[in-house]
Amino acid sequence: MERLDVSDGFDVHDYRAKLKLLTQDADSMQLANREGLGCPACGREFEKLFVTEDDSVSFDAAPNGPICVTRTAEELLVLAH
Ligand SMILES: [Zn+2]
Repeated sequence: MERLDVSDGFDVHDYRAKLKLLTQDADSMQLANREGLGCPACGREFEKLFVTEDDSVSFDAAPNGPICVTRTAEELLVLAH
């Protein structure tokens, strides 16, 4: 399984074919995993990826499955399984 590689930062354009953009605003975006990419934290396939350039983030509702968090120099990534 190909794993989402964030060792050199996250660039959505590297995964244009594999991640589907769901929502986007000035500092963040939510993407769906449509090619079975593996999570950079645990290696398992994830369902959705949230990316933000903000230093902190809040979610009003929690997903049902496990969550992993990873960071790059510029972004915070939250992966829902
Ligand atoms: Zn994970």
